[in-house]
Amino acid sequence: MRRIKTRIAILYGVGLLAVLLPIIAAVLLAEHRSLEQQKDRANRIASEILYRAHRVTDQLAAAVLELNASSGAERCSDANLDLMRKLVVKSNLLIDVGYIDNQEMVCSSFGRHAYRVGLPTYRGGGGYDVRTQVEHPLLPGSRLLISTDHKTGFSALIHEGAVLDVAPADSSRLTYGVFGVRSKTELFHHGAFDPGWLSRIGNAHATTFFDGSRIVAWSRSGRYDFAAYAAIPRSEIDHSWGQAMLVLVPVGIGAGLVLALVVAQLVRLQRTLSTALRDALKNDEFFLAYQPIVDLASGRWVGAEALLRWRNANGVMVSPDVFIPEAERSHLIERVTERVVQLLVQDAAELLRERPDFHIAINLSAQDFSNAALPDRLRGACAQMRVHPRSLHIEATERVFLDVGQTRKTVAALRAQGHVVSIDDFGTGYSSLSYLTEFELDCLKIDKCFVSTIGTQAVTRNVIGHIIEMAKSLQLRMIAEGVETQEQATYLREHGVEFAQGWLYAKAMDIRQLVQKLDTAKS
Ligand code: C2E
Ligand code: MG
Ligand code: MG
Repeated sequence: MRRIKTRIAILYGVGLLAVLLPIIAAVLLAEHRSLEQQKDRANRIASEILYRAHRVTDQLAAAVLELNASSGAERCSDANLDLMRKLVVKSNLLIDVGYIDNQEMVCSSFGRHAYRVGLPTYRGGGGYDVRTQVEHPLLPGSRLLISTDHKTGFSALIHEGAVLDVAPADSSRLTYGVFGVRSKTELFHHGAFDPGWLSRIGNAHATTFFDGSRIVAWSRSGRYDFAAYAAIPRSEIDHSWGQAMLVLVPVGIGAGLVLALVVAQLVRLQRTLSTALRDALKNDEFFLAYQPIVDLASGRWVGAEALLRWRNANGVMVSPDVFIPEAERSHLIERVTERVVQLLVQDAAELLRERPDFHIAINLSAQDFSNAALPDRLRGACAQMRVHPRSLHIEATERVFLDVGQTRKTVAALRAQGHVVSIDDFGTGYSSLSYLTEFELDCLKIDKCFVSTIGTQAVTRNVIGHIIEMAKSLQLRMIAEGVETQEQATYLREHGVEFAQGWLYAKAMDIRQLVQKLDTAKS
């Protein structure tokens, strides 16, 4: 009883885990997914900015180069102003092209109109001066970048948006831009670049990291001395984590509930089957069916195996392959065996008394052999039937014997009082061979799975030959189980197997039918 309770407690534990594990897994997965998603997002923004920065820089350089190549010493000649206009029209990014002298834009595609542009923010590689965040007097509120050839003064202007307008409108919390690597200056930026990132970045060409509050992606240009970066704050991570949780946690809970239901059903089934077995014992739902054992040489029925049958309260037949293992598990098998003995005494006393050379075999489980009182109980049963114990054979189902010492004693006691003891289903368990040497037995039942290979191409078809040879060398009698064809019977007889049992001869029947058939065979 304690073991059943422990098993149920374990099953409930498993049920609880079944609910919790998918939820925990969903939470962890949501967190991981959200972090990965935000890393991807940061990388995508940085790549887009780098792409745009390349395009813009290419156009700035091309425009200045074309102006540099124009003839004439006078920078603001009509021809140059014309070229400046053409360059702006041709480009899809340039706002203006002009000539800067001494912190002043002297002329540009807009005409000759001097306005101050101030000192360069820094001098970049390749002899270019760069001014950032310049407001054009004709474009109020504009934030422009001006790139100037410091030898010729020719300059090109672009709007910062040409590089920075990458993220959706709700991205005010994001930080991104273009950073001059050697000069350590910001060329374009939306939000401030954190100089602390530089130690994390080191010489990396591309990297993504979490700085404790933001996910930062960094991608350096292979052609120019700048890198694009994007940083996403923790609040965004939490936001997308929350969204992922909204989907994953219900899925986790759903999966957990389904698992829990399955476990609950298993617990219920376990309980109901063992409870039903107890009820069956109380309500007398068991009966015996007898399958004849045939002498292969003469065809005579020399005995029968008693097979237990259970018709439950709903009239459904439950297979012994289901209820015997359950009875063993729930420690009801001794009570089941006791019922078999009682049924046998009721059914077979007369038959066995009248036919002293006929026997009936009953099946016992491993736990029965650990029961020291069993030999006495069987002797009592034989006394009650007034038959010799040799009329009652025992089949030891060859599953694991629990207590080898006690089993050996029980087998010896059973044989000593005259019962014939067979090992059942020989060859299907993993310790068959050791049992043969461990316990002294009379008879070996060759399992039907070997009999069925006779005359087939199955890889195991030779095994039956070995089993037969081994039984002979140990001087054990043999009963072949599950004989269904004449070919099998012939093979077995020719190889020296004495007895057989199977549908070729008869299926299991009730005691009345058995007696009837035996009587007709006799007359
Ligand atoms: P087993 O002792 O090896 O019984 C032989 C099984 O093979 C029986 O199945 C029988 O109906 C079946 N059988 C007989 N001839 C043929 C045939 O020609 N072809 C095929 N395919 N099958 C055949 P059953 O009655 O379903 O019993 C299954 C198992 O349940 C038995 O195997 C035995 O291990 C166990 N069992 C049955 N009654 C008892 C019992 O009273 N006590 C215990 N402990 N176990 C029992
Ligand atoms: Mg058997
Ligand atoms: Mg068997």
